[in-house]
Amino acid sequence: MKYVVSQRALETMEWECRKFPDAETGGILVGFKDSQRTAITHATGPGPKADRSQHHFTKDTPYLQAVLNLLFQYYQVNYLGVWHKHPLGMPFPSGGDILSAMEEVDDPKMELDKLITPICVMSGSSVEILPFVIAGGRYQPMGWEVLPHDQLVPQAPDAAQWYTTTVGQSRLAQEMAEFEGLGVSPDVRKGNDGTYRFHVPLGTEPSKRMVMLCQGDYPVSPPEVAIYDPKTKKYEPLNSPILNDWNIYQLLGDLYREYQGAALADFSEG
Ligand SMILES: [Zn+2]
Repeated sequence: MKYVVSQRALETMEWECRKFPDAETGGILVGFKDSQRTAITHATGPGPKADRSQHHFTKDTPYLQAVLNLLFQYYQVNYLGVWHKHPLGMPFPSGGDILSAMEEVDDPKMELDKLITPICVMSGSSVEILPFVIAGGRYQPMGWEVLPHDQLVPQAPDAAQWYTTTVGQSRLAQEMAEFEGLGVSPDVRKGNDGTYRFHVPLGTEPSKRMVMLCQGDYPVSPPEVAIYDPKTKKYEPLNSPILNDWNIYQLLGDLYREYQGAALADFSEG
């Protein structure tokens, strides 16, 4: 069996490790199998209510279930495994990791014959991702080919987009209700590439717009957000604590509120 992994999934794991260099952390792996290969399309962090400590982490299971539901509706992808970080001296799965993996493999409801279990180790600020697979009560190193995300995930125009799925439409309604509650009406534009853009006028700087670009797997991937100034025609990327620690329960309206709050604070100080 050949394994392939999305570059974006690797970046998600690296980013999560870099955010928590001194704690154990991890997340799940999602993807699909066909006759030729097993493809890992997405990786997640452990979820906003996860517990991270130096030698242990506990996943936020309801959150991860919600992410799985979204990704299944968008791309018909399923749970394939779990990744986590180890201290540098232990660059392989532990006995405990094998036991918990085998609980899942032996559970007929999970429909897994093996569990992909990468271990990440950090040396300084560099993250090494070591892929393993657990089956039959033991772990084995595995190889995987890294592919650009877009080669693994179906693309527009034929693919369903997040905002056309049932779960995506209810998300979109929730986003719009939140904006309405904030008293703003965004201009919403579909991109030819399957992206969805929200242009929101800024009350504090009336000529400027907050532009939020949602990728095909929004809200699993965070939006890309910039402040657009029509006078200079320049986009300035948003520096946002919410974006840095994004989870699917956050809304675009939260980013707008955060930015306006910071702008008002600057105004009253200045
Ligand atoms: Zn472990």
